Amino acid sequence: MLRIIFLGAPGAGKGTISDIIEKKYNYKKISTGDLIRAEVKSNSIIGEKLRPIVDKGELVSDDIIVEIVKKRVTSKYINKGYIMDGFPRNINQAKELSKIEVDREVVIYLKVGNEEVIFNRLLSREICKNCEAIFNTKNKPPKVEGVCDICGGILEKRTDDNEGTIEERLRVYIEVTKPIIKYYEDKGVLYRVDASISIEEVFKKIGEILN
Ligand code: AMP
Repeated sequence: MLRIIFLGAPGAGKGTISDIIEKKYNYKKISTGDLIRAEVKSNSIIGEKLRPIVDKGELVSDDIIVEIVKKRVTSKYINKGYIMDGFPRNINQAKELSKIEVDREVVIYLKVGNEEVIFNRLLSREICKNCEAIFNTKNKPPKVEGVCDICGGILEKRTDDNEGTIEERLRVYIEVTKPIIKYYEDKGVLYRVDASISIEEVFKKIGEILN
């Protein structure tokens, strides 16, 4: 079993690259952001509690997220490996994940040097309401405006992709998520990839790491 973990600031391309790797290698993508958004959309009691946290750009509690992740990674639908997109987000989550054993762990830090790139990417991002596919009106526009290329669903902006919330997400990233890079570096499983280059080039670099 292989575990690939993508680390990087919001807008670094974790979701987009995970989608490509999932299709190409047949590993299962686990996006905690997607799982939380689905819960919020379902209007469940827990979803209603999570909504304001996500909209403010803060992290949901470790107890909730760790349980969701543990259930997914031990699911019988995963056989070859899985890709973590958006988890872990702090040291405690990283330690919890390490308790789940795998044959190989690869952590890829997608590095974006410039905050302006992050803001521009997130402010022009659109996701499919139905299948969560990610588009970008500037860099990766859908063939038909507002319509998902993959399933024909309607594209929408994420409620947390606004300037105020992006600022908070970046602050949280720098304060609590970024220190995980050192945790994985010390474990000897970290690879750094420049994420300001094209998606194709990033994918090529990751292919070299995986092979
Ligand atoms: P993302 O789609 O990864 O940008 O996540 C969107 C939002 O979901 C985050 O801003 C958090 O509020 C929440 N979230 C996603 N993953 C986690 C996590 N591992 N721990 C805590 N909150 C998370």
